[in-house]
Amino acid sequence: MRITSVETSVVALPFTMGGPHPPFAGRPWDRLEILLVRVETEDGLVGWGEAFGHAAIPATKAALDSVVAPLAIGRDARAIEPLTRELMHATHLLGRNGAHLYAISGIEIALWDLLGKRANQPVWALLGGRQRDSLPAYASLLSYANDLPLVAKNTAEARAAGYRHIKLHEVTREAVIVAKEAAPDAAIMLDVNCAWTPPVARDMAESLAAEGLYWLEEPVWPPEDAAGLANLRRHGMRLSAGENTAGLFGFKTLVEAGAIDIAQPSVTKIGGIGEMLRVFRLCQAHGVEVIPHCPYFGPGFVATLHIAAALCERPLVEVLWLEMEANPFDPWVRARDGQVAVPQGPGLGCDPDPAILARYAMAPPVRTETRFAA
Ligand SMILES: [Mg+2]
Repeated sequence: MRITSVETSVVALPFTMGGPHPPFAGRPWDRLEILLVRVETEDGLVGWGEAFGHAAIPATKAALDSVVAPLAIGRDARAIEPLTRELMHATHLLGRNGAHLYAISGIEIALWDLLGKRANQPVWALLGGRQRDSLPAYASLLSYANDLPLVAKNTAEARAAGYRHIKLHEVTREAVIVAKEAAPDAAIMLDVNCAWTPPVARDMAESLAAEGLYWLEEPVWPPEDAAGLANLRRHGMRLSAGENTAGLFGFKTLVEAGAIDIAQPSVTKIGGIGEMLRVFRLCQAHGVEVIPHCPYFGPGFVATLHIAAALCERPLVEVLWLEMEANPFDPWVRARDGQVAVPQGPGLGCDPDPAILARYAMAPPVRTETRFAA
């Protein structure tokens, strides 16, 4: 069943976040942008994927439209593993992490959606999971730039909304202390996005030792410093990382170094669902827990629901703490009472609402296609 077209489009969704919108790449970050990948096969079936993301979207979209989509056209949509392998090999000279891998991820997710639709099975069932209606979620607060009253206010509101796990994107012990005071019965995680060199991270870990963090995420710069993470881990705090790790072999380096307690692979970045599966198996063999990274709002988020439902022993789904005006994948991309519902329909189980797609489209879709003789 050959792929006849790959279409890329971007929607931009206005949102509020309980504080001022932070600047990113020289402009305020006040729209959630989603890069959607629509793959169609010769029988007219359509699958949806999502490629990372945020400020990287123009680069990822260029990689898709100019290189990855043309390579995928005409290929068998069911042969996901060999096609992904070939796409990765064909583009490896362009980088083993970054825009081209994100582009491959978007197509790969769409192929799983197609596979499930063709088999009339949800993706979680194709992955061998058991049926679950919902999964626990955690509130992933955006950065309030160490504005402690805003950290406290949003932590309290997230707890009141039903979340029992709340993650901060701050870099100070004071932020952790005010969050604990605002939600004393919640587990608090701290994600510093690789802010610290190993010596600074060591001092910070010592000062945070008494605060009982559920995990400390990406404490070390650069993220591939496996030895730096492994040394820090000896201080007794649970460390998580992986959203910036390059594929299975990047995780192999982290796991073999004893660098992490929790692996956080990201389905829209790492190469899609198949590469996530390989990371799960690797981590299983080394006693490392996997809690995927998924701060996105389209098919990548929904694919993570299927993966977590099927493969996570203790699922905990990352949901950014913000309020979107609308989303073409509603209601599947929102949490309620600290839980997210797992779609039960074929494939990813949620095609986008065309009216919402049209209303928030940033530009007309770009289509790569080939017509075959009948
Ligand atoms: Mg993170």
